[in-house]
Amino acid sequence: MTPWILGLTGGIGSGKSAAAEHFTRLGVHLVDADQAARWVVEPGRPALEQIARHFGETVIRPDGTLDRAALRERVFEDPAQRKWLEALLHPLIRKEISDYLARAESPYAVLVSPLLIESGQYRMTQRVLVVDVPEHLQLQRTMARDGVSEAQVQAILKAQAGRDERLRHADDVLVNDRDPAWLQAEVERLHRFYLTLRGGQP
Ligand code: ADP
Repeated sequence: MTPWILGLTGGIGSGKSAAAEHFTRLGVHLVDADQAARWVVEPGRPALEQIARHFGETVIRPDGTLDRAALRERVFEDPAQRKWLEALLHPLIRKEISDYLARAESPYAVLVSPLLIESGQYRMTQRVLVVDVPEHLQLQRTMARDGVSEAQVQAILKAQAGRDERLRHADDVLVNDRDPAWLQAEVERLHRFYLTLRGGQP
């Protein structure tokens, strides 16, 4: 049976992971699309072999795992190669996510994904929650978390869907511009709301 799925997204540093953690603590089954993307290219999985055949052994490390940095370099400035890689991986990631979500035993499940909109993964969900913060907080929190420069964060921001596009897909918006306690309270409020939407079904 396909569970009822909430898509959770937001720009880098918006507080998605922090929000996701609160949902987990409330007993909600959660899958992280970034993790699923790593699982599908583990050694022994067919995708890794196809990547090695296409890009050559230089993208495989001596221990047989994927050399992500090498692969990133190969697709970074070559849209055709990037397209090839996405065409291979996106369906596999979607399948990995749905297999994992199918095992959910909570009344609803959460799919957290930084690229929920860009990747089309939002189509797997029944509802979309966007964590949103003003850009200055996004920069400030990401710089503090990752110890990176403002220019580095700006580069990542450019590669992500714009705020407007994300918000256009949002059913609910959590504005994470206050303290962590506020974030937690908002997640708890939304959780009660989602349980109501589910009609309190176990
Ligand atoms: P994302 O997963 O969207 O990139 P995170 O959840 O990692 O973002 O949050 C980015 C950083 O901001 C983390 O260090 C997190 O602890 C911090 N943070 C998140 N929400 C708040 C908040 N309401 N107040 C202060 N710091 C926060």
